Amino acid sequence: MTFNDRARLDSSKVRRGGRGGTGVAVGGGTLLILFLVSQLFGVDLTGLAPATEPAAGSGGEESTIEGCETGADANADVDCRMVGAYTSLDDYWVDAFPRLGGQYASPGMSLQSGRWQTGCGAASSAMGPFYCPPDQSIYLDTAFFEVLTGELGADGGPLAEMYVVAHEWGHHIQNLSGTMDRIDRSDTGPTSDGVRLELQADCFAGAWAQNAQSTEDASGVQLLEPFTQEQLASAMDAAATVGDDHIQSSQGGSVNPEQWTHGSSESRQQWFLQGYENGPDACDTFAAGADV
Ligand SMILES: [Zn+2]
Repeated sequence: MTFNDRARLDSSKVRRGGRGGTGVAVGGGTLLILFLVSQLFGVDLTGLAPATEPAAGSGGEESTIEGCETGADANADVDCRMVGAYTSLDDYWVDAFPRLGGQYASPGMSLQSGRWQTGCGAASSAMGPFYCPPDQSIYLDTAFFEVLTGELGADGGPLAEMYVVAHEWGHHIQNLSGTMDRIDRSDTGPTSDGVRLELQADCFAGAWAQNAQSTEDASGVQLLEPFTQEQLASAMDAAATVGDDHIQSSQGGSVNPEQWTHGSSESRQQWFLQGYENGPDACDTFAAGADV
């Protein structure tokens, strides 16, 4: 069990994309992995098609999430777990972000499948979870977690899933703080600004994880049970699994650091741990020199 069964979830800001229509298959092995290489946990959406007509197969209007009211729902259902992650992350950053010197605003979050439109252009499940700065919204298809544990070989589990949301939330923090606008995201490689941005999002995810068990619902009821060592290991494992070197080698190709966009498995784990142990103040990956 991860969530306190009695805690109340806030589903007011989490939307569900239209399902139905003709649908677009999620999966597709190699094709999906190819997309993931460039887009995994992405934030750079310059390669997307411009927003025009709604994509074929999209199910129309977004709607509110139904049936995700308690921690027990979050323990039982992955979509409700995303709502629970939202409630916990929002509670954490409402307090933590002003201490970093900014004015906080909650992001949107949309659970999607198939193809859909965003303020960043047309999107699809095959892109993996991402944050769209103009929308200030996180988009994800929970089917991604099957890719994470399947093709990419992660252990999985609730905290590993929430790490994914916490990483995207980290991009929202970078958007609010102006970091995203200040950096040069045109370059790749282990010490590029783009990689530093991604590692900082991992660090922010770790900072949340350290404090997650003291987050509360609107009535002051504790949201999460203390994480077990096994759960923490699963989050670290997820961070390693989405390292560029792991993704490159799991595709059967050679490891080419110059093409890295998110950082190595070791760096992603290291920065998650940095946030976990030292908090968001210690997440300045841009000051880390060549040792990032
Ligand atoms: Zn990212």
